[in-house]
Formats: sequence, structure tokens, C-alpha cells
Amino acid sequence: MSSSRRLCTRLGLLVVLLAPLAACGSGDGGSTRVGATATRTPEFSVSSTFSLPTLPTVGATAAPAPGKGATPRPSERPLQGRTIVLDPGHNGGNAGDPAAINRQVDAGGFRKACDTAGAETGAVGGAGTTSYPEHAFTFDVATRMAAILRSRGATVVLTRGDDTGVGPCIDRRAAIGNTAGPGGAPADVALSIHADGGPASGRGFHVLRPGALPGRNDAILADSRSLSQEVHAAMLRVNQPPASYIGTDGYDVRTDLGGLNLSTVPKVFVECANMRNKTDAARLVDPVFRQQLAVALSDGLGDYLFGR
Ligand SMILES: [Zn+2]
Repeated sequence: MSSSRRLCTRLGLLVVLLAPLAACGSGDGGSTRVGATATRTPEFSVSSTFSLPTLPTVGATAAPAPGKGATPRPSERPLQGRTIVLDPGHNGGNAGDPAAINRQVDAGGFRKACDTAGAETGAVGGAGTTSYPEHAFTFDVATRMAAILRSRGATVVLTRGDDTGVGPCIDRRAAIGNTAGPGGAPADVALSIHADGGPASGRGFHVLRPGALPGRNDAILADSRSLSQEVHAAMLRVNQPPASYIGTDGYDVRTDLGGLNLSTVPKVFVECANMRNKTDAARLVDPVFRQQLAVALSDGLGDYLFGR
């Protein structure tokens, strides 16, 4: 082999080695943090044989270990000392207790129902089969995320501990985030997990961040916007398209949600999909997809917290 041919071989090897990094970086969906995705492991390589709590993505050992000057992979970003509140929307007992969930509570300067029963899919297995309710979906994803984030060192607080109770009310969900930190301090971040009940023809996700309520939520607006971008990027990584039927390119700004209005913690809602759309519903009922979603959203929270 000539020296020039050896050089070509080495260059070819270099190209092969660099190509996956370029491919990973291009999939970030508009994140503004330079370099944050350079070593991101493709989430789609998650095996269907996942088991809790061993959840790092397959292929993680192929990326360089984090060191001085390197951005750690999401699974290696330190979350010790961080308090993360996960708020799985609705609850399994809500539909059976309308008096409790219709009770009016403070929603941030106005009154609103304590909670709602949530959305549900159509019959997931065809006519005569059962639907998949939003409360079950949100609790499943939150539980998976809690295991992932705890394995990374975070303190994780859920706003409800089971999927059979009623509530808590929206004001209580916000209050949990505001006091979940050490000594009753605010948590570092809060994520409310939902799936929408939109028109059957529309699909996709959207991220809801707080709109300006001067004198009430000024302190969390900018950080909640950054959080919304990381959650948006996470949804793109699981190949969910931005919602076709609501919001703008997968974003919406809301001032009518008590869970946002009452939060003193950077917080967004993610409507992961439209349960009434058959394509979206087929994804939501798949536990493999829900695990991919939980990993991606956990990575997104790590992306948001990294460096803060
Ligand atoms: Zn919901």
C-alpha cells in the first residue's frame, strides 16, 4: 500500500467516524445551545428490551466519555441536587367524581374547575375494544421518566402517586412544584405531561408555555421559554410532528392554565399527541414508544438544566 493510499484510507476512516456526529447534530430541531447535541446518542436506538431502571440508550458506549471541554451526554449530565417535578395530567378517578373535579379553584387571578377527566383514544383495537385514557398515558410516561431521572441523580416529585385517585386540583399541582425543593424551596423545573383530545384529522405535539401576566409570572417567563424549546426538541427526536391543528409549529402560549399561572418554577405543558387521531393513538398505546418518549423528555430536562 502506497503512502498516499494509506492517507486516503485514514481519511476515509475519519469520515466514517465523523459522519454519525454530523447526523446526530442535525436532528436537534433548532436547539440554540451550541454543541449541546454533538455527542447525543440517537434515541431511536433504544431497544424494545428495555428494563427499568437500566435505561441508557443503546450505543452509549460508542461516544467519548465527558471530560474537560466535552459536553456530557444527556444520560451523564449530573442531576444530583436537582429537584424535578413531573405532573401527570388528570387522574383515573376524576371521571367518577364530578363534584370534586368541578369545584372552582384559583387559577391565577380567576376561578376554574379543579381538574378535568382528560382525553382518550378511540377504541384502540377496533370496534368493541377499549380506549386508552389520557390519565393512564400521562402517569405511565411520568413513572418512566421518574425512574430515568432518579437513575441520573435527580430528586423527582410526582404530583400524584397513583392512577386511581381524584385530582389533585390544578392549584395544588402548581403548589407542589413551588415547594418541592429542599426545605420547601421551589423545584428547579416542572413538566406537566398531557395528550390532547383534538379533531381526529389533526395530529402531532405542542408545547404550552406561560404567557406574560405582569406582576405574577415575570420571573419564570424566559426560563420557561428555554424549557419549551428543549421539550420541543425532545418531541422531534421521537419523530412526533408539530401539531397540525393547533398552535404554531408545535408551540402555544397560554394564560388560561392555572398550572402555569400559579407556578413560581419554570414550567411547561407538553401535549405529546392527539389521542383522537389514529396515527398518534397507535403510538401512544405502544409501550416502546412511551419509553422512547420518556427518555427523550428526560434528556430534554437535562438539556434545560445543564449549565444552570
Ligand atoms: Zn390533559
